[in-house]
Amino acid sequence: MLDYLIVGAGLAGATFARVMTEKGYCCKVLEKRNHIGGNIFSSEIEGIEVHQYGPHIFHTDQESVWEFVNRFARFNHFVYSPVANYHGELYNLPFNMNTFYQLWGTKTPEEAKREIARQAEQENISEPKNLEEQALKLVGRDIYEKLIKGYTAKQWGRECRELPAFIIKRLPVRFTYDNNYFNHPHQGIPQDGYTAMVRNMLSGIEVQLNTDFLQHRKTYEAQAKCVVFTGPIDAYYEYCYGALEYRSLRFETEVLDTDNYQGVAGMNFTDSETPYTRIVEHKHFRFGEGNPGKTVITREYPAVWKLGEEAYYPVNDEKNNALYGQYLERAKKEKHVIFAGRLGTYQYFDMDKVIGSVLDLTDSLADC
Ligand code: FAD
Ligand code: UDP
Repeated sequence: MLDYLIVGAGLAGATFARVMTEKGYCCKVLEKRNHIGGNIFSSEIEGIEVHQYGPHIFHTDQESVWEFVNRFARFNHFVYSPVANYHGELYNLPFNMNTFYQLWGTKTPEEAKREIARQAEQENISEPKNLEEQALKLVGRDIYEKLIKGYTAKQWGRECRELPAFIIKRLPVRFTYDNNYFNHPHQGIPQDGYTAMVRNMLSGIEVQLNTDFLQHRKTYEAQAKCVVFTGPIDAYYEYCYGALEYRSLRFETEVLDTDNYQGVAGMNFTDSETPYTRIVEHKHFRFGEGNPGKTVITREYPAVWKLGEEAYYPVNDEKNNALYGQYLERAKKEKHVIFAGRLGTYQYFDMDKVIGSVLDLTDSLADC
């Protein structure tokens, strides 16, 4: 009899399995895909580590999480500084003094603040009700039109007026010449790749790939005292209240016979005409490692999500959050099932938040 049967070999499942195994519990992991790692899975093409489900940069301000991941990987000193491409005009991201100079020629924080305040004032918004109003209030019309409007509408498949304001609050606005996309003190990419990091986390733990728990749930439930489910919570309950919505992505990866295609790991295409949101050139995450004369790029196309397909971004609007609330009520009554991770809790979680939440969960667990 297992103590914990963990469904999903992504970061949430691997963290749970590692911690509880070290506490002396007997754990096994089931994974429906043919590989471990979930969405942080990476593999090599032409000696270059390719992030197969979108670019992943590890960053955190949680010391316990940083200590935890450093047990399983050595991190390089990569800092994410993407460039925005609006109809061929290039701007630094996130919005900072470089961006403001490129847009308006402003050279001091005071000049930039004055310009943003001037533009924001014209919009006359006190309480932003949606993403468009939030963005106009935060950075004014020029940045909204060139760097936010097209990108966001493509990414979410809805106009900014129809999206919740909180999405844009994730992006820093800085009055320094600092192109670091994140504010966290720790940042980097595992030197041997994300898959190797997850493999180290799962070392000594039984993992069964190509196995969908939901197809044989009775058999698997009978093998364990407790199930930890990191797949979609609505799928676990057979969509009894309806299906939660997600936004999906399609990746188009290409090997090119050139050493350096775009000179940066991430280039965001912020106009509305270019059908993809960004091009990622993977070798830049590891400072050009790989076969000389070759590079691998991935174009990322936002896509409509259909039930049964890979879920990427939860759509945390009012309707879906209310639906999730119904599933959560049911989940709270479970004595032998725990939901975790991005899909299990229907939240937009970065990697560090996934690990942090599982570490908290394992701290608070009573015996199953
Ligand atoms: P997942 O990785 O989705 O793992 C869940 C696993 O469960 C999957 O492997 C799935 O196959 C398996 N599963 C589901 N149902 C079943 C079933 N019925 N039976 C068996 N197995 C099942 N975070 C960052 O910190 N930095 C970034 O730069 C970053 N970039 C991102 C870019 C993109 C495009 C996306 C979509 C996400 C990004 N993230 C980033 C977030 C990051 O991907 C997640 O935080 C993390 O992967 C979530 O891990 P998880 O284990 O919760 O979910
Ligand atoms: N965003 C934007 N322009 C950009 C990058 C981001 O308007 O060049 C907006 C977009 O709405 C996105 C949000 O900022 O959903 C958060 O950006 P982040 O890079 O955190 O998005 P992710 O790819 O993780 O969703």
